[in-house]
Amino acid sequence: MEKTADVVIIGGGVIGASIAYHLALKKAGRIVLLEKGQLGEGSTSRCVGGVRLQFSTEINIRFSLESMKTFEHFEEEFGVDPEFRRIGYLFLAATPQEMEVFEQNVKLQRMFDIPVELLSSREIEKRWPYLRVNDLVGGTFCLQDGYAGPSEVLTGFAKAARRLGVKVYEMTEVLGVSLREDCVCGVRTKYGDISCPVVVNAGGPYASIVGDMVDVKIPVKPLRRQVFVTAPFRLSDHPIPLTIDFHTGWYFRQEVDGYLLSGPLDAEPSFKTHIDYEAMAEASENAVYRVPALEKARIARGWAGLYEISPDNHGILGRVPEVDGFILANGFSGHGFQHSPAVGKVIAELIVDGKATSIDISSLSIERFKKGALLLEPMTAFRD
Ligand SMILES: Cc1cc2nc3c(=O)[nH]c(=O)nc-3n(C[C@H](O)[C@H](O)[C@H](O)COP(=O)(O)OP(=O)(O)OC[C@H]3O[C@@H](n4cnc5c(N)ncnc54)[C@H](O)[C@@H]3O)c2cc1C
Repeated sequence: MEKTADVVIIGGGVIGASIAYHLALKKAGRIVLLEKGQLGEGSTSRCVGGVRLQFSTEINIRFSLESMKTFEHFEEEFGVDPEFRRIGYLFLAATPQEMEVFEQNVKLQRMFDIPVELLSSREIEKRWPYLRVNDLVGGTFCLQDGYAGPSEVLTGFAKAARRLGVKVYEMTEVLGVSLREDCVCGVRTKYGDISCPVVVNAGGPYASIVGDMVDVKIPVKPLRRQVFVTAPFRLSDHPIPLTIDFHTGWYFRQEVDGYLLSGPLDAEPSFKTHIDYEAMAEASENAVYRVPALEKARIARGWAGLYEISPDNHGILGRVPEVDGFILANGFSGHGFQHSPAVGKVIAELIVDGKATSIDISSLSIERFKKGALLLEPMTAFRD
């Protein structure tokens, strides 16, 4: 393994791989990416791949718009089909208050020319007749939203990064980050140390453990989300949008010949990644309530993964004031996959040019928590 590098990235998920690629593209020097297991084995491999423009804060919309450009041309840039399917996201509101939030969101989204439709429950019933609508006030739909393959996208970034000279080491856990007078000077692994002036924390749900290595408290908590998939089943001959019951946070979408149903999100942080029967029952109940025909579907499998939740459900990006050379790309709160192209780009700009220019990331700085400048959304955030 290298003894020196210009940048070491800790974590080989979709975020670390995107940063590695964008740094190499900007000729940032000798770049090393270290992954404690296999590439993508963290949250990235558990992700359901949702990609949307329908966000409720300006900063998230900017990350979506920038990332969307990459998803649209992914195969040309990376030579890998990202399996990007534009089936739309349909948000459902069950109360007038939720509908008010949707109306505010649509106002904001239209300022960015996002083609989002505001729908009544009657229109929803007409277009998606398999949905129960008697308790709905309305909803929003954007056909530009959809989903892509997390492992395909990760593979694209990682292959391109390697082609451009990035050294990628799997099964190589970073055990510590070395400092000299509050400046990063290297990382320690069981295979040896690497001297470097810049370390990127792309540790996903482990971000705060990586932060502890330099005594920086990173407020990111791991929360388990379970998901289930039905055996082959057909609801309609038309494409099914990714449909979200905003009231409960439950969502579903097509998955090959069946449907992917979201299960509950844990209330308490943990690193648990098993599925349980109660969660499957809850996912099925929510499904049958909103889509009565799913009563005849059978659950075939399920899995669980960890969201990396920040206190305001927004990413934590950029430098930390206490340690020079320690860069954060954490806390995406269930949106990290879809924002990974833009995150890679802005972090590479920050490291190489000294400032992120594609998107102003100052509002995502870790200092916002000390200053009380949280990026709060109008209602509890939806996590994909
Ligand atoms: C069920 C589920 C559904 C989701 N659905 C969506 C969705 O629809 N859309 C969306 O945008 N996002 C979604 N997400 C969120 C998304 O998966 C994450 O935001 C994203 O994968 C984060 O990528 P990452 O690279 O930061 O983290 P990870 O993929 O977890 O990568 C971090 C890596 O760091 C490694 N690591 C940690 N510590 C060390 C160390 N000391 N040394 C070396 N390596 C280390 C880990 O092994 C891990 O591989 C979902 C998540 C889950 C769990």
